[in-house]
Amino acid sequence: MRIASWNWGGRPHAGTVSADGRECTPLAVKDPDRGALELVRRLADGAPLPPPAGPRLPVDAVTLRAPLPRPRRNLFCVGRNYRAHAEELAGTVFRDAVAQHEGWPIVFTKVPETVIGPHDTVRLPGRAVSEQIDYECELAVVIGRAGRDIPRSRALEHVLGYTVCNDVSARDVQVRHQQWHLGKSFDTFCPMGPWIVTADELDGQATRIRGWVTPAGGHAELRQDGRTQAMIFDIPCLVETISRGITLQPGDIIATGTPSGVGMGFTPPRWLRHGDVVRVEIDGIGAIENRFEEH
Ligand code: MG
Repeated sequence: MRIASWNWGGRPHAGTVSADGRECTPLAVKDPDRGALELVRRLADGAPLPPPAGPRLPVDAVTLRAPLPRPRRNLFCVGRNYRAHAEELAGTVFRDAVAQHEGWPIVFTKVPETVIGPHDTVRLPGRAVSEQIDYECELAVVIGRAGRDIPRSRALEHVLGYTVCNDVSARDVQVRHQQWHLGKSFDTFCPMGPWIVTADELDGQATRIRGWVTPAGGHAELRQDGRTQAMIFDIPCLVETISRGITLQPGDIIATGTPSGVGMGFTPPRWLRHGDVVRVEIDGIGAIENRFEEH
């Protein structure tokens, strides 16, 4: 099943999307401003979905929002979770990337306000704030059932489904502050969508992630092309690790890390500029595509 959130007729809605991604059906959720959160909770509880709240519509006729446009709290994010990506940073200030990897994943967070829709514009913060804006194409895990101290053997029981995100990053700010939180949390720095595909329909541990950058006035360049089988810390490990002493809640999001091919990995680095468009596509889910603009 695909669940989504969108604006139509001047109001927010949440509901289901057809398997071909072409039609959406609004459902009678209590707080559509929260997007698909109520649907996540109901599906996780095995409860029936609410009845339709209106006619089916072409997806092209609505404005998709992020499926969870206002997460309840920070997004959990995993750093350097693909070996080729850790290795591409070996020539940068993140040169400790590979060695640091033994044993435990790097986990940081992004504030909820970073989240924007699958076709919304990402705002470049201006060069006085950062000159090194980069993309990170990622599979995002959506937690369904709450739980704490979840063993890896039961981790997937807590995963409701998957969506696509771009963990946009200000590299100079990441480095300057030691902690990554500020450089990952600028407004609009987490495009997400186009919907959540439930875990019964997609094996998040065996799919393909690709990312393209279309420079202003240029052609699309495939920059990232990875498979989630290549994660250093797999999804059960991430759920087990993050839930150690912390209760995961329905609607929590775990961005699972990015394959190689980020702008920082090029020599010289290829930072995003005004007018660039980044497309992230995951097989079995769909694509998000966001234009970057300096305001
Ligand atoms: Mg990332």
